Formats: sequence, C-alpha cells, structure tokens
Amino acid sequence: MDFSLSEEHELLRKTVRDFANAEVKPHARKWDEEERFPKEIVPRLAELGLLGIRIPEEYGGSGMDTTSYAICVEEIARVDGSLALTVASHNGLGTGHILSFGSEAMKKKYLPKAAKGEWLAAWALTEPGSGSDSAGLLTTARPERGGYVINGTKMFITQGSVGGFCVVLARTNPEVSKQKGITAFVVEHGTPGFAASKHLEKLGCRSSDTCELTFENVWVPDENRVGELDHGFTDTMKILDRGRISIAAMALGLGYGALSAAVSYSKDRKQFGKSISEFQAVQWMLADTKTELDAASLLTYRAAWLCDQGKQYSREASMAKLFASEASSRACNRSVQIHGGYGYTREFPVERHLRDAKICEIGEGTSEVQRMVIAKHVLMG
Ligand SMILES: Cc1cc2nc3c(=O)[nH]c(=O)nc-3n(C[C@H](O)[C@H](O)[C@H](O)COP(=O)(O)OP(=O)(O)OC[C@H]3O[C@@H](n4cnc5c(N)ncnc54)[C@H](O)[C@@H]3O)c2cc1C
Repeated sequence: MDFSLSEEHELLRKTVRDFANAEVKPHARKWDEEERFPKEIVPRLAELGLLGIRIPEEYGGSGMDTTSYAICVEEIARVDGSLALTVASHNGLGTGHILSFGSEAMKKKYLPKAAKGEWLAAWALTEPGSGSDSAGLLTTARPERGGYVINGTKMFITQGSVGGFCVVLARTNPEVSKQKGITAFVVEHGTPGFAASKHLEKLGCRSSDTCELTFENVWVPDENRVGELDHGFTDTMKILDRGRISIAAMALGLGYGALSAAVSYSKDRKQFGKSISEFQAVQWMLADTKTELDAASLLTYRAAWLCDQGKQYSREASMAKLFASEASSRACNRSVQIHGGYGYTREFPVERHLRDAKICEIGEGTSEVQRMVIAKHVLMG
C-alpha cells in the first residue's frame, strides 16, 4: 500500500509551515493568553486556501484532497493548536457536511463564502446531556410554515459565536429509534431565536471560540435542510470519520512541535557540565517520542490515503485519532519534563502544547469511543 506523499503534498506542507512560522507562531502565545479568537488572521487563511481546502474550485475552494487537509492542520498545529482546531472544524465539520450532503443551491450559497472566510462554519451535534451518546440529542425540529422550527441547546460548539452559519443536528422524528429520526439544518447567524448564549473558558485551545448555543423557536425554510429527512445521524458518522483524521493530524502537529522544542532545549541547557541531551534518560524520552509520533503519522496518512482512494477508512481513522492523540499528550508531557522548571512556565510554548493536545483525546469522540469503534470493527472480522 503506497500512501507516501507526492511532491505537491510536500510543497503544500512547506507553504503552510512557512506561513505558520511567520504569521501564526509570533502571536500564538498572546492569542492564548487573551483567550480571544484572532479574527485578523482569517483573511490570510482564506488567501492561502485554508478555509476551502476540500471545497471544489467551482465553489471558490482549493479542491484539495483529505491528505492535504491533514497536512494543513498538522502544520498549523505545530505552532498553534487553537488555530488548527479552527481550520480542522471549519473545513471538516460545518462546510464538510454541506459539501457532502447539501443541495446544489446550498453549496452555491454557503461554500464560496466559507472559502473566502466571510462566513466561518460551526457544526452543532453535542448537547449538555449528550456527548459520547450523541444520538441521545434532545434538540427538536418540527415542521411549520414550509420549514422547521428548531428548539434546544448545543454545547461546546467551535466557532459558535464567530461563525457565519451553523449546521445543527435536531430530532425530526421521535417515533423511530434514536439514530434514525435526526436531521441536519443550516442556521445563519442573525436568525431570530438563535444565539451564542455562553462563551466557554477552557484548559487549552483558548483562542479557539467555543460556545453554548441556544435555539428558541428558530424557523428555517425547508431549503436549509442538509441531506435527507431523518438521515442526519448516518451522515454525521461519515462527517466524524473524516474529522477524526484532522484531529489525528492536529495531535501530530502539536506532538512534533513539542518534540522540536525539546530537542533544541536539550542541546542548549547545561547541567553537570554538559548539555542535558547527553544524558541517556533525556535521549530515551526523545527516542520514544519520535518513534511514537512517526507511528502516529503513518496511521494518520494511511487513513487519509484510504479516504482519498474512496476506500473504507472508518476503523483506520479511529485508530489514527486514538493513537495520535495519546502519543501527542505523551510527547508534550515529556517535552515539559525535558524543559524542567522552565517548561512549567509560560516563557516556553510547551505548556501550551500540553494543554492544547488534551482536546485531541476528547473532541470528535473520546479515546474510549474510538476504542469502542475499533473493537466493533475488529469483532466484525
Ligand atoms: C474544545 C472543544 C470543542 C468542541 N467542539 C465541538 C463542536 O464544534 N461541535 C460539537 O458538536 N461538539 C464539540 N465538542 C464536543 C465533544 O465532541 C464532546 O465533548 C465529546 O464528544 C465528549 O462528550 P462529553 O463531553 O459529553 O463527554 P461524555 O460523553 O459525558 O463522556 C465523559 C467520559 O465518559 C466516557 N464514556 C462515555 N460513554 C462511554 C462508554 N460507553 N464507554 C466508556 N466510556 C464512556 C467518555 O469517554 C469520557 O471519558 C467540543 C468539545 C470541546 C471540549
């Protein structure tokens, strides 16, 4: 199986790395401390095609593949987990749902604005009472006046207040099994009754916008329905499969960023008359980290390659996300350890990497949920 990267992919990696180093890295610490979504970087993301990565050129996007999507997210995450989360979720979840399941009219209306960064996309599945058990959602959409009236609360929604539109999952049929009666709708910001009711303060990814959203008698026309009626949960599982590749890529970027910081610090820092990189205990931490991250990279780009080939990749996406996210947390933790007391301060970026990496074990399905998905596939044979 050949899923090595092409010259085009390598060129894209270099372009995004150069951008991230020059225009994101210098600000990442400040954005994190201010816990402020950096709106000023959005036009640059759009110019570079990073807000329409998989959107076909006919809708104003970059028309790239899933491997490219992973590369873009990984490279941004090397310097800033928050911005990587923005790029991952905007491309994969909100716009991804419309791209995969929306009508032609819907694609023409939303995708060009999404690619230009005029409208960032949010995607609302999780609720205060339903996370891992996502089909247990309570938000409802009932038919009325040629459209639907949506009521409910969504929790932890990325781009919840800075987005231009939100794809929201709601129950349209309470009579059937809980996975079957769910439908997706696009709701634009400014629609009466739709509000970002609470901005959530977080451990990490603090400059990514995360909100509670409320829907109080929000009417949307039938043309805002994304995909078939009552089919939204099946579509959602497909959206999450690809999304998990991007979270694996984000974990990789954070891990490699932390490793690179650990390598340079270990060469500079002297104790007992030598660089700490000369101590075997430190070398073993670097060796374990590099080995685990490269293994995670192979899993991640295998899943992306399978997706690009039109093959089944659900199990591989879960394996990539599970392994990469846990390897990333270990990598960041070891990097803090190698930095000693300085690593525990905000003077060095590794404490931010450690805080940011934790979300990769939780978002788009926790590690426990990934193990459930993988085990199901393994047992099916
Ligand atoms: C920063 C951030 C951004 C997010 N962005 C979005 C977004 O844009 N859109 C969106 O819809 N959601 C988003 N989420 C929500 C995220 O996907 C959920 O937090 C995640 O799926 C877990 O759900 P939960 O928080 O309700 O935890 P729970 O489901 O309550 O889980 C709590 C614990 O119980 C474990 N657990 C639950 N069920 C089982 C089981 N059957 N077996 C074993 N263990 C189990 C979990 O693994 C976890 O350890 C975001 C979350 C965060 C923190």
